[in-house]
Parts: sequence; structure tokens; C-alpha cells
Amino acid sequence: MKSVFKLFFSLIVFVFLCCCTTNTQKNTEEKMTIDENVKTENEKIKDNFGIVIHGGAGTILKKNMTPEKEAEYKAKLEEAIKTGHKILADGGNSLDAVEATIKILEGSPLFNAGKGAVFTADEKNELDASIMSGADKTAGAVAGVTTVKHPISLARQVMQNSPHVMMAGKGAEEFAKKQGLELVSPDYFYTQHRFDALQKVKAKDSEAVELDHDGDSTKKDKANFYDPTIKDSKFGTVGCAALDKNGNLAAGTSTGGMTNKKYGRVGDSPIIGAGTYANNATCAVSSTGWGEFFIRNMVAYDISAMMEYKNISLAEAAKEVIQNKLTALGGDGGIIAIDKDGNVVMEFNTAGMYRATMNKNGELYIGIYEE
Ligand code: ASP
Repeated sequence: MKSVFKLFFSLIVFVFLCCCTTNTQKNTEEKMTIDENVKTENEKIKDNFGIVIHGGAGTILKKNMTPEKEAEYKAKLEEAIKTGHKILADGGNSLDAVEATIKILEGSPLFNAGKGAVFTADEKNELDASIMSGADKTAGAVAGVTTVKHPISLARQVMQNSPHVMMAGKGAEEFAKKQGLELVSPDYFYTQHRFDALQKVKAKDSEAVELDHDGDSTKKDKANFYDPTIKDSKFGTVGCAALDKNGNLAAGTSTGGMTNKKYGRVGDSPIIGAGTYANNATCAVSSTGWGEFFIRNMVAYDISAMMEYKNISLAEAAKEVIQNKLTALGGDGGIIAIDKDGNVVMEFNTAGMYRATMNKNGELYIGIYEE
């Protein structure tokens, strides 16, 4: 009787233990599944990165382009974007990616930035650039520098090593020297095709003076500004926007400005909010086009603000700003941008925009004309 009871008791204990183990296993399995989900979600966020660039917008038509020139542009865009993409893929930060990418474009005579910058009316090259970090909304900008090989790097130094946001002219160059940046003779920026473009524009300009016999100087300046040859000859600015694996956004822009610019004219490219903007909560944007209109429309900031206040997507905000608000004032050009989730936009209202983008899977897109 005693042994039957013992057997019965052991059986009860065995069944109880089995239940406990199964439950614990189930709980552990459930917990693991939840942990796995969380991990995958985090990894998904961590894994997400992307980059987008532009090399200027304007009347870029296939009929005006040779296959060789087109191939040259595409190769440089590819080299630049791959440089930034590698930094991001290796876990580097978006500011490093933006700076390194823009430096490649500044080093190429194809684009209106660094080497290849357009000429002022005084036959000089005056360079503008800006950069912004979306993580802490710090920003740096330079205007009218003539001896700094990579203005984008100077903009970054202003952001990180000074209490200021913007420096101009001689002072900015003095600061560049102090920061140990590479300085070059102003001749470094000379390119024949940009010099020839200036002469063409100047010829147009004197035609405008001829037209201006009533002595109305405002009319002359207007003729200069609104002449389509002049308007189109300024394009070729470069810009980059990137999202890194830590969810940090950054954007930067660099330019020589506008052919035949006078009186120390500064465009939108070094103006934070107009030419460049980045905010981790929304997006990173770089602009290119007729600078005066981009300043008056605060284009880059407006896109970010519309996303924030109206809770709309980057694509919707960019379309509204470039196709409606900018055109309503008569401005032309475009933007490239990336949002906090890695969605990319390349919006322009001109015939073309040199552009490229590369996502986390390494898929590359390069475009020049409207599609
Ligand atoms: N936005 C530049 C400026 O007006 C020019 C350009 O993007 O091509 O200085």
C-alpha cells in the first residue's frame, strides 16, 4: 500500500515538474521571440543608411551633351557617392560622409564648386559653402573665400571649432589658416571653360547696357539677372545629404555662386535654411538653383518645417516647395534630400539636375535629365 502511495506521489511530482519545465520553456521561448523582435527592430533602425547628391540643376539637355561629357559627369558622380557610401557602410558618421563626398566634387572642374567654380565680374572665383548636423542642429558656413581648396571643410571647421555659424572673406581665410586647412593660390580655381562663360555673359551684359539708354541702372541690373544665358550659366553647385547607421542626418552644399556676380553677392548655398538644412526629426536637404529665390523661400528649412508641422512625407513637402511655392515666385532649381527613415527625394523644376543616390543595399541610381 505504502509503495503504491509512493508511486502515485512520484507520478504527481513528475507531472508537476514536467508542466513547470514546459511553461518555463514556453516563457523563455516567448521572451526570446520578443527579444528577437526588439533586436531585429533595433537592428533594422541601426542598419538603415543612405546618401544622395546633386551637381547642380538647370537647362541640362541631352541634345547639348556629348556622350563623352555625359560619361565624365556620371563617373564623377559615381566616384563621389561611392566615397560617402563607403564611410556610411563602414559605420562612419553622416558629417564625414557629406564632407568627403563634396570634397570629391569640389576637386573636379566639371562642377561649379572648388576647382571649376564660376567667375565673378572681377574675374575672380569666390566660393561659398555650408554644412549642418541634424543630431544637434549645429551648422557652419563660409562665403566669398578665394584661397581655400575645400570650402566645405572650412564650413565644418567653423561649425566645430568656432562659436560662430558663418564667416566671410579674409576673416574666414585667416581662420582656415589657423585650422591648418589646405590653402591654394586663387589661380588654382581657374578653368578655361568657366572663364569663357564669363566673357559670353559679359558680352550679354553689355548688350543689356545698350538697351539701357534711359540711364535706369536698376533696369540694367535686372536685365543682367533675368537674362536666360546668365541664369543658366550659374548652375553646377554641388550638395550632399546623408543618413548614417546611428540615425544621424547631415547635409552640405558648396558653390562658386553665379557667373558675373558683383558687389560681393552671396547666394543661398551658405545660408542655413536656404541652401542647407538638417534635422534628425525630419530630413537633411541641399539646394541648387537660382539662389535669390531659394533665400526668399527658405527652401531647405521650409521642407523640413512642412514635414514637422503638417506631418507630411518628405516627397510631399519637397514637391510643394519646389513645384509650387518656388515657381510661384519665379524661381528655378531643385533639391536633394533624405529623411530620417532613409527615403530619398531628388526634386527639381528645371530641365535637368545632376544627381545620384545609393541606398543601404548598395543600389546606385545616377540621373541627369528629367525622366
Ligand atoms: N544656388 C547657387 C547660387 O545661387 C547656384 C547654383 O545652385 O547653381 O549661388
